[in-house]
Amino acid sequence: MEATITLLPGDGIGPEVVTEAQKVLTAVAAKHNHTFQFREGLMGGIAIDQTGNPLPEETLGMCLDGDAVLLGAVGGPQWSDPTAKVRPEQGLLKLRKSLGVFANIRPVKVFSALADASPLRPERVENVDIVFVRELTGGIYFGQPQGRETVNGRRAGYDTMRYDEEEIRRVLEVAFRLAAQRQGKVTSVDKANVLASSRVWREVAHEVAAEHPEIEFEDVLVDAMAMYLINRPGDFDVVVTGNMFGDILSDEASMITGSLGMLPSAALGGPDSVGLYEPIHGSAPDIAGQGIANPLATILSAAMLLRSSLGLSEAAAEVETAVAQVLANGYRTADLAKEGDTAVSTREMGNRVVASLF
Ligand code: NAD
Repeated sequence: MEATITLLPGDGIGPEVVTEAQKVLTAVAAKHNHTFQFREGLMGGIAIDQTGNPLPEETLGMCLDGDAVLLGAVGGPQWSDPTAKVRPEQGLLKLRKSLGVFANIRPVKVFSALADASPLRPERVENVDIVFVRELTGGIYFGQPQGRETVNGRRAGYDTMRYDEEEIRRVLEVAFRLAAQRQGKVTSVDKANVLASSRVWREVAHEVAAEHPEIEFEDVLVDAMAMYLINRPGDFDVVVTGNMFGDILSDEASMITGSLGMLPSAALGGPDSVGLYEPIHGSAPDIAGQGIANPLATILSAAMLLRSSLGLSEAAAEVETAVAQVLANGYRTADLAKEGDTAVSTREMGNRVVASLF
């Protein structure tokens, strides 16, 4: 197949980790006779420095025009002044909006070689392989009215949690599409015993579930889910929920792995929209330029890109297996290394994954 992939290395360790992911994608193309064309765009702090705009029009055009976008990270202390008119994060928000991505996908998988990095007991995390699907553009973070007021001398603040059925349906459909490529189970999380918006969520979730009888489906209340993630995280496959519940639960779940440098993510829209793939970590300015960053979260994001934007599930699984193999062989970047492990550089970790592919 032929595909055009837009690379946005960004700031800090972004360029270092994106280079390794590109190496892995190039190796996949060579192995399976695909043609991947890479284009690189300016984005984030570096784009502000060079053009005054965190997401220059040229970069946005490139993203909209290609098949998928792979982003490193944006931001850093030199662009963090909260009073600054232009900030790197504005570029990220504009990019998500322009691509129309409304579902944030975060896999939480514990590699057996890293099970002892989890704060949970190894036997509890052994089989953890969850994908969170968080609604990204609606719910209480965007609902109106929102504001504050002083009534009878007392300060008060208020927010609105609102979901309409179309917003719910489209994110549920993303969850069912993913479940069909995985273990075939969807868990929808809400607070339907208290919230009216959750009762609509649950109704629509059941309607979508009825259209997919081949997928196992369950509802779980958000407070129960917070407990289940700790005491039986191995029982879940695809977990779908609204913006705020997803924000909190996906962070809770990511800690099960115990290693920030391992976690990929995707932001997806409808079947025809361009997907955005990025590690969940930031630009790590404290280690930027030293060649020691862990590139695996970005390499695993590239695997998600192969699966969800290019339909290359087999190649995606090969990349994931190569990562597991390299870890099983004892190779670790500095963030993962313990006594007895072989600490390798960013570049060597990328090379090891490529070697494992063949
Ligand atoms: P961070 O994720 O960049 O770093 C937190 C800690 O984890 C640091 O000690 C860092 O060295 C370490 N770390 C992160 N990724 C690593 C990797 N791949 N390998 C090894 N160690 C790694 O979070 P932060 O320090 O809070 O933020 C730094 C900058 O990144 C800020 O400007 C922030 O706004 C930005 N940020 C960007 C994104 C994004 O681009 N989507 C996300 C989060 C933070």
